[in-house]
Parts: sequence; structure tokens; C-alpha cells
Amino acid sequence: MLIDSHAHIQGKEYAGEAADVIARARAAGVEKIIAVGGAGDMSSNTEAVALADSFPNIYATVGMHPHDAKDVGADELRALRELTSHPKVIAVGETGLDYYYNHSPHEVQRRVFAQFIGMARETGLPIVVHERDAAQEAAELLRSEGARELHGVIHCFTGNYEAACDYLDLGFYLSFTGIITFKNAEPLRDVVCKVPLERMLVETDSPFLTPMPHRGKRNEPAFVRLVAETVAKVKGISLEEVAERTSQNVQDLFAI
Ligand SMILES: [Zn+2]
Ligand SMILES: [Zn+2]
Repeated sequence: MLIDSHAHIQGKEYAGEAADVIARARAAGVEKIIAVGGAGDMSSNTEAVALADSFPNIYATVGMHPHDAKDVGADELRALRELTSHPKVIAVGETGLDYYYNHSPHEVQRRVFAQFIGMARETGLPIVVHERDAAQEAAELLRSEGARELHGVIHCFTGNYEAACDYLDLGFYLSFTGIITFKNAEPLRDVVCKVPLERMLVETDSPFLTPMPHRGKRNEPAFVRLVAETVAKVKGISLEEVAERTSQNVQDLFAI
């Protein structure tokens, strides 16, 4: 069994196709999918929850992507806090820092990230973190906001081994996407080789980051198998072992 630990299948890219996408995932051995809210706008959260309500093997998270941190005020935080009480909402996020695209000012991203860490602490839910070109600040902020007492994952990890160790020290899991299948990703595959499987998740981040050999097409959760196969190859272990351990990690982290 595989689990896609991070996908945006509630998005408009799959309008009217969710049932087919979920069926194709199941046929590829992907038994559960985490529908991550907060990429785009507030509706991505309610849509993730609606999907989790309709399909027993889909779970939802609620938050707001750092790109859109500038749109998060008291009303949005209140609405998201309310959604966390839904039984199939299993984490806060995605949230974090993205200093590559800079769609929201850094100080706003930091403020909102700290607020979501606070929400995770209050609700006792784990946190799904997006971080790009901001590893040191994200790790510092997590540390200063008491994230060590939380559980969480750094999704779509693309940093170096030093950054990986920083997050592992905080007790976080690291999740890898189809980027590890790309030809030029040799440095990231070296990180995959060194990070213990016990602390690793796999994800698609659908509809983005489609793994080889489908790169250029829309991504979907069935393709998480290609990510897991690459982890297996890099580590010199079986696909079964990767599937079993990463699925166990997802279930431990999100208590599903
Ligand atoms: Zn992300
Ligand atoms: Zn995402």
C-alpha cells in the first residue's frame, strides 16, 4: 500500500474527475490520499473537506499557502480554526515560507506561519510546512514557536542535507515529490539516500511536479508510485519496503 501524503485533487484541474483520479490511484496501489488545502484561496480548504466527506480514503488539511499569506486575516483564521474540528481534517497547512516567488511580503509570511503553528499547538494537529529558499528562517521560526512539541512534515523537500538535518532535529518528517525523478536532481537524490526511511514520506503535490516519464503532463496521485520507486532505487531497497514504511509514517504522523 502507498499513500500520497500531499495532493491538491480538490483543484479545478480535476473538476468532475475526482472519482476517476481516486480510482486510478487505487488501481496503482495508492490506498489513501491527503487532500491539502490552502493552495489558491479559501475555497481550496472547504473543497478539500468536501472531498474527504465524500470518499472514505481521502483526508483533508486546512491552511493557506505562503504565497497567499497576505490574504489571511482574523476572519480567515477563525474559519479555518472552525474547519479543524471536522473529523477528517487531520492537519494544519499548508503553511510556511516561500522566499523564491515572494508573492507575499516576508514579514507577512512569517506572521501567518507563526499563527498557523499556534493553531496546530492549540488543536493538537500536526502541521504541513511548505518551505522554499527559506530553510534557516523556517527552522528558526519553528524552533522559537515551540514546534518541537508538535508533529509535522516539511513537504516537497528540495534543500541540502544540512537543512534536512535541521528539520530532522526538530522531529519533523521530510516528504519528497517527483522532483527526485528528474535528471538534474542528483544532489537531491543524495539527500534521499542519507535521510532515514523512518522519517520519510512520499507525495505527488498534484497537479504539479509530475514525475518522469510523465513530466509535462498533469500530475495525479497514482504517480506517487514513481516517487517511491526512485526512493527504493536510490536506497537500494525494495519498493515494498518503501511503500510499507512511508505509509506507516503517514499513519503515525496524521493519526489515520
Ligand atoms: Zn507546497
Ligand atoms: Zn502543495
